[in-house]
Order: sequence, then structure tokens, then C-alpha cells
Amino acid sequence: MLGRLGFETAALDAKLLTGHALGLDALALATREQEPVADADAERVAGLLQRRMSGESVARIIGEREFFGLAFALNAATLEPRPDTELLIELAIKALPVGGRLLDLGTGTGCIPIAVLANRSDAIGLASDISAEALEMAQINAARHGVADRLRFAPGSWFEACSRNGRGEDKFDLIVSNPPYITSAVLETLAPEVKDFDPRLALDGGPDGLAPYRIIAANARDYLSPGGQVLVEIGYDQGSSIRALFAEHGFADIVVHKDLNGLDRVISG
Ligand code: GLN
Repeated sequence: MLGRLGFETAALDAKLLTGHALGLDALALATREQEPVADADAERVAGLLQRRMSGESVARIIGEREFFGLAFALNAATLEPRPDTELLIELAIKALPVGGRLLDLGTGTGCIPIAVLANRSDAIGLASDISAEALEMAQINAARHGVADRLRFAPGSWFEACSRNGRGEDKFDLIVSNPPYITSAVLETLAPEVKDFDPRLALDGGPDGLAPYRIIAANARDYLSPGGQVLVEIGYDQGSSIRALFAEHGFADIVVHKDLNGLDRVISG
């Protein structure tokens, strides 16, 4: 049922934000005796609810979001991790060879390589992002989940971070990414949580939503070990165009993977 302002989870959101403002977890909040709330606490609660009413998500207000069973800190430069991306993690955990090397492009919170390496203690990785603020967040998240010694971070746009020592010197067994893939026009129609609060840089895939895939398809083979694979998240309606793009650049065994809703979500090749 939609609340008065159209929020599907209004009651839950209010509980989470109240608990956060008062420093109480869900159990403490539910079992606390009725007692007056100090003015300062009431103001803090009201402040957070006001932010929610302006469209900011609960995760952004609280400053973290759970993804693949791990909590990831967020900031204004990072996309909020989404359950949709968990399929990519499951596939990556299986695809990475023993002792494998992983590259994540546009890492944001770092949720992709951190979730993969947390489940594959034999593997190592490099994560890059064009935003220094995003990389800072990713580094904090890597330390929090105990993978900081196996995951390197480097600033740069797409492959820039790994071409610094000469093109193709760094090789990877698996290249992953959840690049921006929303078309610029569709972006304007999305919910305020996304359109007004997720960073545009992490969403806007250009006029046809395919700009990042053109860069990835054209360059990935220079950075792949023999037999290496690319595994990237895609929009639900992009399967055939991105398949064609990777085929054009000589990729084989291209598979479009469907998510739990039966929608195209990830492509591998
Ligand atoms: N799946 C996200 C959304 O629809 C977009 C993520 C992306 O562009 N990589 O909001």
C-alpha cells in the first residue's frame, strides 16, 4: 500500500530512520517502553524524515546499504548498490579461475570486487573509478570487509588505470563492470531516489545508453589473459545490441544472463 506521499515502504522507512536518529536498532525500537523523547532527538528524527520526504533513499540518509550480505558505505559520488547487481557477483565468483585476477571498471562503492574477493580468498583485483571521492569510499569498504590487501585501487577513466605502464601490460582473467547504461532521456523519468540522488555519472550511458559498452568492447581484449572473460551488467532491453557490439570486437561464447525477474541483466563473453 502506498503511503500518503506515495512511498511504498513508508512505515518501514520511518522506523529505520527513527531508529537511526535515536541510535536504536529495530529490536530496541520495538521493545522500548513508551517514554518521552528529548527535543533534540525529536528534531533529529524530523530532519531525517524530511530528507526522506524530499526523495532521498533510506540507505543514502543512513549512509550505507547491504549488498550480497555485506554493508557498503555510500557517498554522493557512488551509486547505491542494488540487488539487481547480485547476479553479476554470483557469475563472477564462478567465472574467476583459481588464483585469478579481477578488474572492475567504475567501481563506485567497490561493492562488486569486494563482494567477489570476500567470497574468493584466492583471488586478487584492481578497481578503478574516475571519481576520487568514490575510490575513497571503496577503499574504506574494502578495509571493512577484509580484502584491502588483495584489492588495489587506481584512479582513471575506464582502462586508463591499468594502461599506465604501457597498453596491455596488466592482464586480467575477468573484467567486470556495472557501467552507466541509462539513456540520457530515460534518466529524467526515473524515481527521485535515483534521478536526484544517485550520481549522474554512474547512470548516464549517453544518448543510446551504450557509450560505456563501446569502450569496454573495443579495449577489453588488450587487458585479458588468454581465455579471460568479460562480465558486465546491462539494461533489460540492451541484450541484443550489446551482444552485437561484443561480437563485432571478436568476442566468442557470448551469453546474455537473465535475472530472477526473467530480464536480461548481465552479458558475458
Ligand atoms: N540499474 C540501475 C537503475 O535502473 C542503473 C545502473 C546503471 O546505470 N549501471 O537505476
